[in-house]
Amino acid sequence: MPINLRSDTQTMPTEEMLEAMRHAPLGDDVFGEDPTVNRLELLSAQKLGKEAAMFVSSGTMGNLCALMSHTKPGEEVILEADAHIYYYEVGGFARIAGLSPRLVPGINGIMSIENIKAALRSKNIHYPPTGLLCIENSHNRGGGSVYSLHQMNEICQLAHGLNLKVHVDGARIFNASVALDVDVKELVKEADSIMFCLSKGLSTPVGSVLVGDVSFINRARKARKMLGGGMRQAGVIAAAGVVALEKMIDRLKEDHQNAHYIGKELSETAGLDVNLESVQTNMVYCNIGQLKVSLENFVQELNKEGIQVLPVEPDKIRIVTSRHISKEDAIETVKVIKKVAANYL
Ligand SMILES: *Cc1c(COP(=O)(O)O)cnc(C)c1O
Repeated sequence: MPINLRSDTQTMPTEEMLEAMRHAPLGDDVFGEDPTVNRLELLSAQKLGKEAAMFVSSGTMGNLCALMSHTKPGEEVILEADAHIYYYEVGGFARIAGLSPRLVPGINGIMSIENIKAALRSKNIHYPPTGLLCIENSHNRGGGSVYSLHQMNEICQLAHGLNLKVHVDGARIFNASVALDVDVKELVKEADSIMFCLSKGLSTPVGSVLVGDVSFINRARKARKMLGGGMRQAGVIAAAGVVALEKMIDRLKEDHQNAHYIGKELSETAGLDVNLESVQTNMVYCNIGQLKVSLENFVQELNKEGIQVLPVEPDKIRIVTSRHISKEDAIETVKVIKKVAANYL
């Protein structure tokens, strides 16, 4: 079996999840009658300390529903320059939500309060009105880096002072919460809405959840239906989400320990470059640009040795730990990457 470090989206459901899925009470969720979906939504809202929640098929759909529900077409959305919403969601913010992006440069994906202030528009006949500010925590392209509780609060307070809502792309908000050792409820207390994924480190096969206040979630339900995301007996997948929220959060710290181990070892390896400052959760981005090998070939060589990583153009590999990666796997991963890298010095 290869050691698959390409993504935590590749995690498989636990036996307990499969069992819960098999026995979940079901109904038509478009009618609001699926008891398992309702249970997952209630649990999600409680866990994040918000009024309401909505189950969606993917994080991309959750983010898009949030953008559509917070803004009007023609407005501008403030995003970090490497944000997943900007980078990896097919431009849905522009094409479907009708928003233009105002990009803020971050360090490892983390926007400073000064850079956000600099991006805020004054009133001027030429400018699109600002509709929303988004924070990604943890930050995917930033290397799994996290916004601290203080940073979250400071940004939300700045936005709210300007009557601007804040949406958190929290695909991995539980990784951030575990890494910071701050209750997730506390971490998102000042935010208006949060999307989190069940299908990543939490290990369910499908699904994400959007949370916020009741009127926001009601608008989001309309958006979800429009996008074709109204699912029927969705409790069959939501059941795994309930198990994820009850059982799978605390163990994320093991993934972080393994990622930290891999990151540290590779950072000390000739020809490889890892920005250890960004290795705060379950990801390691390793730059191989100094090696005398193409990214494609390097990834292929690792593959032959049973190590699967994700190439990130132009010159990085991404390594993501999850519940399927043991400490022994992490040790083996380091050993193989060091060996292959040594061939191309
Ligand atoms: C994975 C991810 C998403 C989207 O999730 P999908 O379920 O793949 O659509 C959104 N934001 C971030 C930061 C992610 O890592």
